[in-house]
Order: sequence, then structure tokens, then C-alpha cells
Amino acid sequence: MLPNLEVAEKVNSKLKARGCNLLSDGRPIINLSVIKLLELLFTINENIIIIPAHIWTPWFGMLGAKSGFDSLRECCGMYADNILAIETGLSSNPEMNWQIAELNSKSIVSFSDAHSLEKLGRELTVFSRINNEKIEIKNTEFNYQDLKMLLQNKGNWRIEKTVEFYPQEGKYHVDGHRSCGIKRMPEEITKLGRACPMCGKMLTPGVLGRVQQLADTLVKLQKTQNRNGVLEYTTKGDYKRPYQMLVPLTTILSQLYQMGDKSKKVTGTYVKLIKQLGNELEILSEVNLTDIAKAGGEKLSLAIAKVRSGNIFVDPGFDGQFGKVKIWPTQTDIKKNTVSQNIQETLF
Ligand SMILES: [Zn+2]
Ligand SMILES: [Zn+2]
Repeated sequence: MLPNLEVAEKVNSKLKARGCNLLSDGRPIINLSVIKLLELLFTINENIIIIPAHIWTPWFGMLGAKSGFDSLRECCGMYADNILAIETGLSSNPEMNWQIAELNSKSIVSFSDAHSLEKLGRELTVFSRINNEKIEIKNTEFNYQDLKMLLQNKGNWRIEKTVEFYPQEGKYHVDGHRSCGIKRMPEEITKLGRACPMCGKMLTPGVLGRVQQLADTLVKLQKTQNRNGVLEYTTKGDYKRPYQMLVPLTTILSQLYQMGDKSKKVTGTYVKLIKQLGNELEILSEVNLTDIAKAGGEKLSLAIAKVRSGNIFVDPGFDGQFGKVKIWPTQTDIKKNTVSQNIQETLF
């Protein structure tokens, strides 16, 4: 993130001068080491904010199993101190990141890719004034410097909370081979090893196992339900902010009607609910359940209550395949997946 357009122009021209093709893709491959890139950027302007994104994905995440780095320091060298925050990506939540001591002095944020409109905001970060005034988004009130300050745990603003996916929904939560249909939980890896029983090649590592591999801090997770019934997770300490885990409304509707999330029934109901009740985030986490029942039926309000309280099941994603949310899991779903997450505790 750059403080202004002038800096952006400088960055672009410096990168072009190094032979980087910035027009190839939304995520250009610039062929510079992370340290070289950070050196280039911070020499241009020390106010640039760098947030490594989806840091656990196997190939392109900073701490991904195949990234070649086992720590932020290893990846960024002396510039590690200039990294103010990390982004969790879909396959990890703050709790998983809190287990890494090195990340304990960094803010944790959640964002979503901008490439598909309907997925915008699937994960997000809420900022608020410390004195808890309702945020009004006016440029004059919240500026770049405020953002930079709050990421350093300073100033008049802070991260109120992040809103996350269930990390099991992410494409790389556990180890597996998509084409072979093989998925293994970390416990199974310990017992059976990393080789795929179908093709013999190594399974694509998942984020859960990778976090366990690097974890060096025990996290005491606190769970409380807010006044709307949404479960909030937090732990004590600087830079530790609460988070919630939600499920996209189209996923809930698709479970409810047993139809695809792009089907007419699901998209039609989605639009109707948004028009009647408010935006998706409000429906998922704030709107009164009675109003939801009136607009979308009793079963929808029950489903949303289950999502809010964490009383759902997620068949974890692996090797590029998204995990599948089961609001009403069958016994077989539960048996074939020994997900060692708190979700299980609240199931029955
Ligand atoms: Zn991304
Ligand atoms: Zn295989």
C-alpha cells in the first residue's frame, strides 16, 4: 500500500527499470527477491505499508510449506521490522497465526481478493475509533497515516475485529491430492506419512499441518457470544483483536435449498433478502433472527443462528479444492472427518 500517487509512479518506474512487467496480471511476477523488493520500496518511501497476504498458502505464501522460508525474518531480513501486519488468507484464522511468536508483534488483518465481485468482502477487517464512535467513512477522518498507526497499535484507531471464513473452507487447509481424491489430516500424516497412496507422489501440504510445524506459542483462546449470538474468538495481548467466522449467505442458501450457489433459486433469494434486510454482513451477523425468519423462513433463521454460534461442520479443503460447509452434517460427514477444531465440540 502506497501513501500517494506520486510514490506509486516512482515505484512503477523503478520496477519497470528493473525489467518487471507490471501489466501481465493483477499479480505480476516481478522476479525480485523479497528482500530486494523491500529494499527498493522502502528506499523510495519509508511510509509504504507492506502486508504479506495469505501467508500460509503452500507456494506463494510467505510461510507456505514450499515458500522456502520458515520465518518472517528469513523472508524479509532486516526489513522484517518494517512489516506491520500480516494477512491470514482463507485457510488460516488469527488463532492459528497467534501460535507463531514472531507474528505476535504484528497486526493481523483479513482481506479478500478484488477479482470477483460476489466474493468481495468474504473476509474483512473492521477499523474503529478507540473511543468507539461509529465509523463514518470520510476521507478527512481516516487517512493513510491513521491506518499505518493503527497497524502499529498506536493512534486513535484500532482493528475492531476481523471477519473470517472457517479456515477449513480454504483451498489448502489440510494435506491432499485433488486429482487422486486423497485428503489427510495432520494426525493421519503422522501415522501414514506424506506419500499419496494413489500415485505415490508427495501430497500437497495443507496450512493446518504447516502451522503446527512452525508453532512455538500456546494460545489460550477465549470464546464469547456477542449480543447477536455471533461467537467471537480472542486471546489476551497487544495486537490481539477479536475475530468472527462467518459463512457466505449464498453458501447457506445453497445448503438450505440443496441447490448450487449460482442457481436461480439461491441468487434470487439472496437478492430478495438483501433488499429486505440489509447487506450480507448485516444479515449474517446483526439482523434479528425473527426478522430473518419473516423474510426467508424459519429454517433460514435457524441456519444463520447455527453459523453465528459456530454450530456447523466444515469438510476441509485440500490441494486447491475449497472446503465444504455442512450446516446440517450427516453422521458419515462427521465420521470421515476428524476435524480437531472447536466446531466439533458444539455439534451435539
Ligand atoms: Zn489473495
Ligand atoms: Zn496422488
